[in-house]
Amino acid sequence: MQKEKKLPSGHPDTYYAATAVGMREFATLAGAQRADVCVIGGGFTGLSAALNLAEQGFDVVLLEAERIGFGASGRCGGLVGSGQRKDVFETEEAFGFERSRQLWDFAELAKNEIRQRVVKHGIPCDLQDGQLVGVHKKRYQGWPQELSEALAERYNYPFCQSLDAKQTREYVATDGFLEALYDSQALALHPLNYTLGLANAASQAGVRIFERSRVRSYSRTDPSLVETSQGSVKSDFVVLACNGYLDKLERRIARKIMPINNFMIATEPLGEQRALDLIHGRFGIHDTRFVVDYFRLSEDHRLLFGGGENYRREFPADISKFVRPYMLKIFPQLDDARIDYAWGGTLSVTVNRLPHLGRLKPNVFFAQGYSGHGISTANFAGKVIAEAIGGTATRFDVFAGLPTHMFPGGTLLRYPGMVLAMFYYSLIDRL
Ligand SMILES: Cc1cc2nc3c(=O)[nH]c(=O)nc-3n(C[C@H](O)[C@H](O)[C@H](O)COP(=O)(O)OP(=O)(O)OC[C@H]3O[C@@H](n4cnc5c(N)ncnc54)[C@H](O)[C@@H]3O)c2cc1C
Repeated sequence: MQKEKKLPSGHPDTYYAATAVGMREFATLAGAQRADVCVIGGGFTGLSAALNLAEQGFDVVLLEAERIGFGASGRCGGLVGSGQRKDVFETEEAFGFERSRQLWDFAELAKNEIRQRVVKHGIPCDLQDGQLVGVHKKRYQGWPQELSEALAERYNYPFCQSLDAKQTREYVATDGFLEALYDSQALALHPLNYTLGLANAASQAGVRIFERSRVRSYSRTDPSLVETSQGSVKSDFVVLACNGYLDKLERRIARKIMPINNFMIATEPLGEQRALDLIHGRFGIHDTRFVVDYFRLSEDHRLLFGGGENYRREFPADISKFVRPYMLKIFPQLDDARIDYAWGGTLSVTVNRLPHLGRLKPNVFFAQGYSGHGISTANFAGKVIAEAIGGTATRFDVFAGLPTHMFPGGTLLRYPGMVLAMFYYSLIDRL
């Protein structure tokens, strides 16, 4: 498990924790509990599953090892992209048009679910509209035009626009992009506040949430016995929602994902004008690199910037020093800007970059491996798991039917192979 500095609250020291709204303490599990469903993990996947289950009338316990939103959900970039991690050209090639269209439609429902949750529960997560994808090298030129046409013609999605170099500069003050795609219906949000909002909604809907309650084991029986150091939950169903933080809890699914660390910084408040001179509006931006750079402005006019990753258990000793060069490559004009926060988080990727959902037994469900496209997909995964437990597995089965592969070498040897592969792709980024 990752060793890192925590705040007295038990959260990592991030810009998001410093600006959290609606954070409350939930008790630690003690003694024996009974529930219909025990959800393990308090991020988007687990909370969405728990809330949707409670709304269907299930009696739910959610166990989080640390604090709600402690994992990737409370630390991520906050960019809610349209579609899946792979674009529609790739999903059409892999699965044909019908399945590709179905996956696209699911992703649209996922974005709508987030919008609706924000309104329904009044979640103060600074929801923003729009996302720009900057083309960083010639090889990808033409892709924004082709994609926006394909989406308008075949996916009933006329909201993407291709921008030439001059138009791109009207959105973002960088020379780093040759052209861009602007998607007016993608979203961005304060991820920790969204997570806390989901937790409060779940609690109000009757979910019994326990923090600082790390699950040590669960039995492969029906009902299952889920155990922490101080308590246990006997439940008819178990949902594993631990993603990059799964560690050794369930080796059978750990083999299908690779945990990787990604890093972010937040500058000092730049002042409204300087911030808007940098990005001419409040929307998310990422580029076409394999190791993606992503950024946006915060409510208090900071640049929140994510860039760089590593594939070990440890974070770099000085995260600010590690990420700053990525930021300066895009915005050299920020050379004098102080960095106020720097942090890392762990996500998980699959071999084919498609999400990994399934059942280990009829009563044990899991979802993981969103491969950096987790805000919409994790939230939707929780919803379709809840539907499946409720007896309607149509949408769950579409995800569960996606192909999955084991990392070569399984949990022991996946790291050396991954490091080599990542080195290769990051080299291609630079060529
Ligand atoms: C730095 C960074 C930037 C990112 N940026 C973006 C972005 O801009 N857009 C996007 O779409 N995606 C992004 N992602 C990915 C996205 O954040 C994740 O895919 C998503 O949050 C996964 O949600 P989750 O609930 O499945 O997992 P997590 O949020 O990681 O939650 C898992 C939880 O399980 C808990 N847990 C683990 N083991 C146990 C146990 N034994 N008992 C109890 N609890 C346990 C952990 O403590 C953790 O809180 C980013 C990720 C990182 C790290």
